[in-house]
Amino acid sequence: MRYLEQTRTARVSARLTHDELHERLWRPLQIEPVDPTVVVDELARDAEGGLIGSAGDRFYAWVIGGTLPGALAADWLTSSWDQNAALHSTAPAAAVVEEICGAWLKELLGLPAESSFALVTGGQMANTTGLAAARHAQLAAAGWDVERRGLFGAPPLRVLASAAQHGVIARGVRFLGLGTDCLVELPVDRLGQVESRGLEEALSTWRGSPLVVALQAGDINTGAFDRYRELIPPAKAAGAWVHVDGAFGLWANVSQRYRPLVDGVAEADSWAVDGHKWLNVPYDCGYAFVRHPAAHAGAMTYRASYLTHAEEARDQMDWNPEWSRRARGFATYAAIRELGRRGLAELVERACSSARDIVSGLGGHPRVEVLAVPIINQGLVRFLAPDTDVASAHDRFTDRVIERVQADGEAFFSGTTWHGMRCMRISVSSWQTDGRSVTRTVAAVHSALDALVASYASD
Ligand SMILES: *Cc1c(COP(=O)(O)O)cnc(C)c1O
Repeated sequence: MRYLEQTRTARVSARLTHDELHERLWRPLQIEPVDPTVVVDELARDAEGGLIGSAGDRFYAWVIGGTLPGALAADWLTSSWDQNAALHSTAPAAAVVEEICGAWLKELLGLPAESSFALVTGGQMANTTGLAAARHAQLAAAGWDVERRGLFGAPPLRVLASAAQHGVIARGVRFLGLGTDCLVELPVDRLGQVESRGLEEALSTWRGSPLVVALQAGDINTGAFDRYRELIPPAKAAGAWVHVDGAFGLWANVSQRYRPLVDGVAEADSWAVDGHKWLNVPYDCGYAFVRHPAAHAGAMTYRASYLTHAEEARDQMDWNPEWSRRARGFATYAAIRELGRRGLAELVERACSSARDIVSGLGGHPRVEVLAVPIINQGLVRFLAPDTDVASAHDRFTDRVIERVQADGEAFFSGTTWHGMRCMRISVSSWQTDGRSVTRTVAAVHSALDALVASYASD
């Protein structure tokens, strides 16, 4: 509770180096037991200084959400109950709660009601689950039972994936034995949206092979969305399975204002979404949805004589890659109830307007160049080094400003290279970020920037 109470006031970066933390936390492996209260008190004391303030309101690096109070408390219950949510018979309440979460999530995200779903560890496993279902269906259509025969000698499956795709797709095809050589890059425009011409050319080149088209909802740099109405019909007409990585972007559907961005996305065959980002539930939590339950179960299900399968209820093992697993549905159930449709729409809209306000606030400084005004909750700026027009000087300066802001501890951003330029990403997913956080953040970045400019002038 002490930790939670200071998330809006404490510094957001770690104070201690790796070696300092190691020195604090390391102990010779002991022989005798230690009182658990002492263990926990010492852990809380020793980890402090090595914690990043992502549970607070001024954390904008990568794409990282906080944790809603109800979701956090439900997560404490989850650990206390210690249910194994593999099957209905091993954890009946957890199984029923997951069934309910699946129905609620499909409704919130605007996905087809007949879709099957899985509550997995995060976006990586949600995408891998969708791709596993795609692999099953596309190879079955080519007369190949991949679960029995594996991939040796199988017809080669191609994954036509957006060039702006997150690395989870490449790792997913590695895990699934398809190998990254199966990936065919689809060209994108400046914002990271797949171009129809490029897709149509790739489809005509690879027509006849088992195909998956991987699109995205929410580019991690610009927040851009693919044009589903334009891209999905030709992909389907060519017999492809369409998968959408919507780790954070699919949440746009909960807001009337942002819903047009996901128009047509429900025509895809599988979708991956995160819970631990924009829904603000604790790690680990992601969701996979598949329009074709038989393909999904075909990739995941397993029967063994020692397992007890439910007749009426849903067994998670039929849909999930794990066997024993955390009952992660409780936190999702609590988060959705705690917010309601209205609260969730407000959370999403507040994050988007905070991202826009930070970008425009930063842009008020003459040494800030705005590169991507947020479409949703992601934006990009860079910092211009004084007295130079050498590109590499701006790159170095941008990295120095990011480091300085982190060291000051008032706000936390991460960098990226976008179209050859070093940039600072502004990514807002926390339920806690509001107008006050924005004001404080803009002031912190401007002051770090001014201090660096002054140090250049005195050099
Ligand atoms: C975060 C993210 C992922 C990876 O999700 P994890 O939950 O970190 O596994 C995949 N795609 C996009 C677009 C993301 O933002």
